[in-house]
Amino acid sequence: MTTSEQLFEKAKTIIPGGVNSPVRAFRSVGGTPLFIKSAKGPYVYDEDGNRYVELINSWGPMILGHAFEPVEKAVRDAIQHSFSFGAPTRKEVEMAELIISMVPSVEKVRMVNSGTEATMAAIRVARGFTGRDKMIKFEGCYHGHGDSFLIAAGSGAMTMGIPDSPGVTKATAADTLTAPYNDLAAVERLFDSNHNQIAAVILEPVVGNMGCVLPEPGFLEGVRDLCTSHGAVLIFDEVMTGFRLAKGGAQERFGITPDLTTMGKIIGGGMPVGAYGGRAEIMDIVAPAGPVYQAGTLSGNPIAMSAGLAMLHHLNDHPDVYTRLDEVGGRLAAGFREGFVKAGLNFTINQIGSMFTPFMTERTVTNFSDAKTCDVSMFGRYFHAMLKRGVYLAPSQFESLFVSVALTDELIGQVIQAHAESLTEAI
Ligand SMILES: *Cc1c(COP(=O)(O)O)cnc(C)c1O
Repeated sequence: MTTSEQLFEKAKTIIPGGVNSPVRAFRSVGGTPLFIKSAKGPYVYDEDGNRYVELINSWGPMILGHAFEPVEKAVRDAIQHSFSFGAPTRKEVEMAELIISMVPSVEKVRMVNSGTEATMAAIRVARGFTGRDKMIKFEGCYHGHGDSFLIAAGSGAMTMGIPDSPGVTKATAADTLTAPYNDLAAVERLFDSNHNQIAAVILEPVVGNMGCVLPEPGFLEGVRDLCTSHGAVLIFDEVMTGFRLAKGGAQERFGITPDLTTMGKIIGGGMPVGAYGGRAEIMDIVAPAGPVYQAGTLSGNPIAMSAGLAMLHHLNDHPDVYTRLDEVGGRLAAGFREGFVKAGLNFTINQIGSMFTPFMTERTVTNFSDAKTCDVSMFGRYFHAMLKRGVYLAPSQFESLFVSVALTDELIGQVIQAHAESLTEAI
């Protein structure tokens, strides 16, 4: 048995499923998860001493590579002054100023501890602001594990109001309406049949959570217009895309202004951080400025703020990072496409900037039902063939891969080579 296997056996007896977040358990690709010991730059190292090139990067935050020195230094400096005060700090003011300067639709912002907290708070704020109960989300979009979002967060069912998870009440589910991604007409129908009842539309402006799926031209604009004309709050969940697709996120890249934005992942530089913000008029209803309650003992934690500030400052001051990320993502996608063609497979690759997914399907993937046509057992074989060749992918077909600027041209070449060989093995 490998050390990872031994640890997993032990873990399963004392942690549900052996992991602290489900996708880590490798259920959808089979096999035993790697237990990671350390990571630096483009590499992670497991407990058995194997080295892998990273294409997940902690599901996004390690966009500058692992243990990026300025972030590491910021954390080292911060820990000398104690780790938590539960009182306001200078760093929180700096963080708010920096976020607002990078993401122009954000006029006021509140820090929280995860992406899930950010989306849960944003939807409460939208309901408080509009005095309405219902919301629209899109099938296959993931917004964290808040009750209201566990509806079609992984099922293509067009049926409204059927929760994905036991423990979510029917009453909660009934307030969540769902539409297929990229289907503007479906959103319009929901607005028409729920007149003056819809508080918010929440979406991933580029989806990462059914694999990488891009908005079709006009989709985001159309949703923006519908929200404006029906008085609903448009929430861009940029937990994944924020500070990634541009320093101002997908909203900058596509030129759309949401009312509220949720952030996470990159914003903490690897620490557990989230944030939500937007128009001052809306954010001013959050306690203690207004009546909508939301709080957090460790929110704005000084160590987490230090890591996040170092990360965001670097991204803000180095626009070349985004040029390089586009280049790395583009090259990998082109190389993977060529690999598919050489293997005689007419499979789909979706890519934008540092996000991409090779889909094991010939269908164009624009929504969750397209994504579900993938050959997931082939993906499982492919995943393990890549792992054997030292490339660490997300352990599910329905995830976006994330590249970092730590990937050198040489490593990109190696990954493309591994892809070609792994396909041959997986077919
Ligand atoms: C990861 C993610 C979340 C949840 O964030 P956590 O920090 O895991 O709670 C929410 N929305 C999107 C789009 C995400 O990718």
